[in-house]
Amino acid sequence: MARRDEDQGKTSALRAGLLEWYGRNRRDLPWRRSRNPYAIWVAEIMLQQTRVVVVVERYQQFLKRFPTLVSLALAPEQDVLAMWSGLGYYRRARMLHKAAQFVSENLQGNLPVKAEELRILPGIGVYTAAAVASIAHNEPVAVVDGNVERVLCRFAGWGAGSRKGGGTALRRKVEDLARRFLDRARPGDFNQAMMELGATVCTPRNPQCAACPLMPECKTRGEHKTARRAAMTSRVAAYALVMRATPRPARRRGGNTQQMLLVQRPAQTTVMPGMWELPTLLHAEVPASELRMTLRHAIMQVNYYVHIRSVGEEDVEVMTAAGGERRWVALHEAAGMALTGLTRKVLMRSRLLPSPAMDAIARRRGEAVV
Ligand code: SF4
Repeated sequence: MARRDEDQGKTSALRAGLLEWYGRNRRDLPWRRSRNPYAIWVAEIMLQQTRVVVVVERYQQFLKRFPTLVSLALAPEQDVLAMWSGLGYYRRARMLHKAAQFVSENLQGNLPVKAEELRILPGIGVYTAAAVASIAHNEPVAVVDGNVERVLCRFAGWGAGSRKGGGTALRRKVEDLARRFLDRARPGDFNQAMMELGATVCTPRNPQCAACPLMPECKTRGEHKTARRAAMTSRVAAYALVMRATPRPARRRGGNTQQMLLVQRPAQTTVMPGMWELPTLLHAEVPASELRMTLRHAIMQVNYYVHIRSVGEEDVEVMTAAGGERRWVALHEAAGMALTGLTRKVLMRSRLLPSPAMDAIARRRGEAVV
């Protein structure tokens, strides 16, 4: 009995922590400003298989053109497809249109309220029905999308984090855990918090566990092996991040400008010839005190576990491998260069280069872009 009370206490604390984290960190996305079931339904359909930054733009235009379910139902299919342009997977638009026509003709234009009833409509599956019913009407039904599944698999320490790798038995376990974990007083916010956590913190790669409200009870605390990744091989690589400050040109006003050292891959190499990257360290093992960050970077079937070390300008020659043209580059120049994917990733994570997706959202929120 005492044990059960203790478990319930921990679960309540985690729920509260997650909701509190969501309140502080949720992205200001346009569909979150509405409880209108039609608007939420449109957003949920668009968000399937399309990136958030793309949906943000198309969603507002779509709702401007079709502000109500009835206006969507009455529109010619070609107009609906035209407004879907850029989102891809046009079958979703056709099903949305058909469902709107069905509701308009048979249900006086009112979307069903319950998740179970929503599922009779064309194109609305378990996930979409649960999302619309919980967010618009606070029905206590748990949403399990790919993000939530990954979070729960890692949280519970289950060995696979993808539907492809997990199979039906795992899927059932995940759904059961999602149901038990759901905050029944605030199911809409809770579902959105879980999805947001998977999208921004417990990401497929480089989860930010130190910022995660579930960390106290999480069994994995980082990337875990999935069935899909098991076939990959692992290698360790290490690069130097070398920065220096130089005075600004006289025609520009005072202060220093920051530069970094980049190396161009030889033109005759078979992999990414001519692209720019950070200098390679001669020794892959980096003492903990000198380690700036680690990250995983997959190329084909190889997972590179990459160590990044800050190196002073005076130590570059002895610590890094020779070869390739070297160039000191101002940060704003680097953004426009042909950087390797790994180098771009390191610089974005170090906030030395802007991250396009997050910055697009920051701009819409009127925040400064680093
Ligand atoms: S602690 Fe890390 S692995 Fe666990 S749920 Fe949070 S972000 Fe995911």
